Amino acid sequence: RQAAYAELRDVEPFTRCGTRIQVLMNAGLREDMSNLPLVGADGVGLFRTEFQFLVSATLPQRERQTRLYRDVLDAAGGKEVVFRTVDIGGDKAVPYLASEEAENDENPAMGWRALRLALEREGLLKAQARALLEASAGKKLNVMFPMVSEPWEFDAAKAVFDDQIAFLRKQKKMLPDEINFGAMLEVPSLAEVLDLLIPKVSFLSIGTNDLTQFLFAADRANPKLAARYDWLSPAILRFLRRIVQATTGHNVGLGVCGEMGGRRLEALALLGLGIHRLSITPVSVGPIKELVRQVDLKQIEDAMNGWLASPPPSMREAITAWARERDI
Ligand code: PEP
Ligand code: MG
Repeated sequence: RQAAYAELRDVEPFTRCGTRIQVLMNAGLREDMSNLPLVGADGVGLFRTEFQFLVSATLPQRERQTRLYRDVLDAAGGKEVVFRTVDIGGDKAVPYLASEEAENDENPAMGWRALRLALEREGLLKAQARALLEASAGKKLNVMFPMVSEPWEFDAAKAVFDDQIAFLRKQKKMLPDEINFGAMLEVPSLAEVLDLLIPKVSFLSIGTNDLTQFLFAADRANPKLAARYDWLSPAILRFLRRIVQATTGHNVGLGVCGEMGGRRLEALALLGLGIHRLSITPVSVGPIKELVRQVDLKQIEDAMNGWLASPPPSMREAITAWARERDI
C-alpha cells in the first residue's frame, strides 16, 4: 500500500467526476517541510508557528522567526503555505510567557491562549507580523489567526499587520506581492456571525479538533471522553454544513485543517458536505488522495443530504456501509 501511495505522489487528486480537491499538509517545524515533496501535498494548509516557541527555552527573537518563515517558504518551492499566528498559552504554555492569568486558568483550552494572548501581548504579534512580512517579501503571504471568536478580534489582529505594512512601506522595504488574511473557525460562536466576518477575510479554515471539543464540551485531550463523541455525528456534520452554506456564493476560501480530514470516512463525509480543501497530517496525504480518486461527488452529496435530513441510528455505520458497497 505504501508503494501505491508513493505512486500517487505526483498525481493530482481529481474526483471520479473531475473535481480537483486540494490536499495540503499540516506542519510546524522546519524539519516537517521535507515531507512536502515526499507525500506530494498541494502545499502547507496549516503551519503551526507556535512550535518554534514551544521548543525554545526563551522567546524566539524576531530574526529567528524571520529565518524560519523564510526557510519554510524556500522549502515549499512556490507551493502555498498558510502561516497561523501563535497559538500558545492555555494547554500550550511556555514558561517565558508565564502569567498569573494563565496559571489561574481552570480550563486552559478555553483560557488565555492564542489570539486572546497575542492581542494583549501586542509586542509578540507585532514581531511575528514583521517577521512574516519580511520573510515573504516579493512572495505571497497567507496568514490566519487562531481562536477567533468574534469578528473584532480578526480586525484587531489584522490592524497589527496593517501597521507593520505601513511601517515597512515608509522604510521603502520590499513587501509581499500579495497578502491574504484568514481566520480559523474553531470556536462555535464565530459560526453564528459568519455574515459579518466573511466580507473581511480571504479564507476560513475549520479547525475540527477544537471545534469538536467546544461543540461537545468534551476535552479533546481526555481519553475517557474520546468514545463519547464522533466526528461522524449528525451534530458535527450539520454544524459543518451550515458553515458551508453560509460561505457558498461568497468570495471566500473554505477548508478543514483538523485531524478529521485525514481519516478516510471523515474525509468522505467532508466531501459530501461540499468541502473541497483538506489540510492534514502528512502520512494521510496518500490515503486521502487515493480516496478522492474513488469518489463521485454527486453521489456522496445526495447520500449526505439524506442522512442529515433524517439521521440513521449510527451515522458511522451508514457511511461505512455506503463506502463498502462502492468499494471505497
Ligand atoms: C484545530 O483545532 O482543529 C487545529 C487544526 O488546530 P490545533 O490542533 O493546533 O489546535
Ligand atoms: Mg485549534
